[in-house]
Amino acid sequence: MWQQQVFFGVHYDYHANANDRNIGGDLSEEHLQEWLERIRPDWVQCDCKGHPGYASWPTKTGTPAPGIVRDPLRIHRDVCRRLGIRLGMHYSGVWDARALELHPDWAAVNEKGERSARMTCRHSPYVDEVMIPQLIELIDVYDVDGFWVDGDNWASTPCWCEKCSAAFLSQTGATAVPRSPADRWWRRWLDFHRDLLRRFVKRYVDAVHARKPDCQITSSFAYSARMPDSTVGIPVDYLSGDLDFRFSAQNALLKTLEEAPAHALLLLTADNAEQLLPTIVSRCEVIRLRPTTAAAVTEFLTAQGVPAEKARLLGHLSGGRPGYALRLAADEKALAFRAEKLDDLRELLSANRRTRFAYAEKLAKEKDTFRQALFIWLSFWRDVLLRAAGSEWPLTNLDRAEDVAQISKRLSLTEARRLTSQCEQAIERLEKSVNARLLAEVTLMDWPKVTI
Ligand SMILES: [Zn+2]
Repeated sequence: MWQQQVFFGVHYDYHANANDRNIGGDLSEEHLQEWLERIRPDWVQCDCKGHPGYASWPTKTGTPAPGIVRDPLRIHRDVCRRLGIRLGMHYSGVWDARALELHPDWAAVNEKGERSARMTCRHSPYVDEVMIPQLIELIDVYDVDGFWVDGDNWASTPCWCEKCSAAFLSQTGATAVPRSPADRWWRRWLDFHRDLLRRFVKRYVDAVHARKPDCQITSSFAYSARMPDSTVGIPVDYLSGDLDFRFSAQNALLKTLEEAPAHALLLLTADNAEQLLPTIVSRCEVIRLRPTTAAAVTEFLTAQGVPAEKARLLGHLSGGRPGYALRLAADEKALAFRAEKLDDLRELLSANRRTRFAYAEKLAKEKDTFRQALFIWLSFWRDVLLRAAGSEWPLTNLDRAEDVAQISKRLSLTEARRLTSQCEQAIERLEKSVNARLLAEVTLMDWPKVTI
């Protein structure tokens, strides 16, 4: 069993939908190979069909996403085989919105009689007419080594359709189908659906094994805390789930927070409160850590032995973050880099298009440098914006006060605001991995021509 021989894998959900464009368009064998040779995973699990139900390969047995321009599965298959890497597939099981667009009568029905737009009913022919044919197609066409079926147990809900209701009544002898947890037979109703889910999983797992015995398949979260059923009945090959730290770590912490020993003071830090469970936040006193003043950071640095003039500059540059200021004080290269990028900006503002293009090309080659340059430029444009707005608020780039003053005089407030937000957007876009060169070109070409 190959899953026993592997340690490190790469998994990606893609969840192609009807509006995606250019699927596979940016992927090439060379690119993928270079990337996998660097990461050296034991296996790769790439997406083939997500919750919207559109396949990201040109399927013959379901609906291919309209935006496929090149078959990403073919590229993955060929490259993984060449490198001796096992290839698994991420496939959405119970949840398939496209199948329900085509067959509304396959939908799970809620207690009010409304059809779901996402979840299929276990009495529908979905598993036989879409899911199994697609899994077999993937084995036949790409000889895939495994499947990771997403959205089974956690996406399953009881279904009140006629077929499910009739089957329940005949199996149990109940006189009416329960509608709420207060009703008699409710537990049996849930058990009945769990059993349907187990049968559903067994059906497709058996179909996969029958076609390719060494194809290793799992249903996500099977036999985890989300599906604590007995192991009898579902022959999955391994256990896996897209575990979120919120599921376990935070829940485990709840008890500690509730019953903290008297001598302990627990301090939790988080980048943003939205990442936390509400139950955690409600048991804590929330203290928002805001940056301190430039003056306080300067004072702090001076006390640490940083020369007065440097301490003053770093106090401003740090944006009120003492830890960052201390790092800058110890890192001569970081300060030199900043000075260089601000000099570059000054020169580029008076430069012609050709110089700017050449600079953009060089800049885009090192994404991290590009990103850092954007942050430095953003701090400069914010300073310009402050002065253009007539504000006397202390500048971040204290040592460039003259440049800031000169440029802010020649720009309207609207222009200063636009340049600031353009820089913010560029940082955001770079994080999203857009074409870095194009982004660098657009950013630099957008700057006004100002000679100072
Ligand atoms: Zn049903």
